[in-house]
Amino acid sequence: MKRREILAGASALALAGCAGEQQECAAGDAGRSYTWKMVTTWPPNFPGLGTGVSRLAKFIEDASNGRLRIKVYAAGELVPAFEVFNTVSRGTAEIGHGAAYYWKGKSEAAQFFTAMPFGMNALEMNGWLYYGGGLELYRELYAGFNLVPFPAGNTGVQMGGWFNKEINSLADLDGLKMRIPGWGGEVLKRAGGTPVNLPGAEIFTALQTGSIDATEWVGPYNDVAFGLHKAARYYYYPGWHEPGPVLECIVNQQALEALPNDLQTIVELACSAINDQMTAEFTARNAQSLEQLKAEGEVELRPFPNDVMKQLRGLTDEVIADLVARDPVAARINESFASFRKTVGAWTKISEQAMLDSRSL
Ligand code: CA
Repeated sequence: MKRREILAGASALALAGCAGEQQECAAGDAGRSYTWKMVTTWPPNFPGLGTGVSRLAKFIEDASNGRLRIKVYAAGELVPAFEVFNTVSRGTAEIGHGAAYYWKGKSEAAQFFTAMPFGMNALEMNGWLYYGGGLELYRELYAGFNLVPFPAGNTGVQMGGWFNKEINSLADLDGLKMRIPGWGGEVLKRAGGTPVNLPGAEIFTALQTGSIDATEWVGPYNDVAFGLHKAARYYYYPGWHEPGPVLECIVNQQALEALPNDLQTIVELACSAINDQMTAEFTARNAQSLEQLKAEGEVELRPFPNDVMKQLRGLTDEVIADLVARDPVAARINESFASFRKTVGAWTKISEQAMLDSRSL
């Protein structure tokens, strides 16, 4: 309810004056129509991510009976993928879709709101964000950038990535140049590798030409769509670095405040709906694409060795401890994140995990 109060308060503020091209700006003006530009970090109509965003835009238009129209721009159409945050922050576009860990150059703490290696899965992340204090911290952090964030999609646990050599020990990561964003990249660096952050659309060519040795992207559904299985032999699991990454909608604060309450609520509800729908889509399509990959028989599926996972977990603890020591905002968010993970972990262990284990007894 707190969020609703924040939004309601914001609407009241909007009554005091609306700038820019908005002529009539009384909140609650039911006859007024709005057109927003939406910039995204995804390739045009990319399966799951781009299509999910198009669905989000359609939800908002349909639910508002056309009073709030969203014109979606794929990465590079209006601005490059990694300019989404700045563009919405400035208000050049009113809304954007991407992932918080792309903005670690703005605030390293933003990464908590996408994924921490060995952190929480999709169910647990939603628990933390909606009912564990996570969303309040997320909003507080982004308020400093003139943005209101909404969780708007979750891929579920990702794959570990594509490699052209076997990973048998941590030493096999030494010297490896890999596309891996966020803290996963920091962990790779501590293992002697070189992390690279490339937008999705550039990954295939980089891998095929050898300008990177390895890459992670999402999971079978999205990875096959890029043809990554044609550029690497080994497909490792699980995605230790992204156990349940949250995708985000970011809305320019003034643009949101200029909307009447019902349209603000529609934006919020549409984001919440797409948050669930994307996970459902990824679950179904990843399974189908995995089946297809296996049937083609050209890719070797491999689990990371347990020793490698344990060492990567140790390096993750070091990365987070160093961040918390130098960044008080990150320390505060980590306190909430770590505490929730501990509590929810005890529940997950005897619920989802026990049930899943029982399927393979
Ligand atoms: Ca990824």
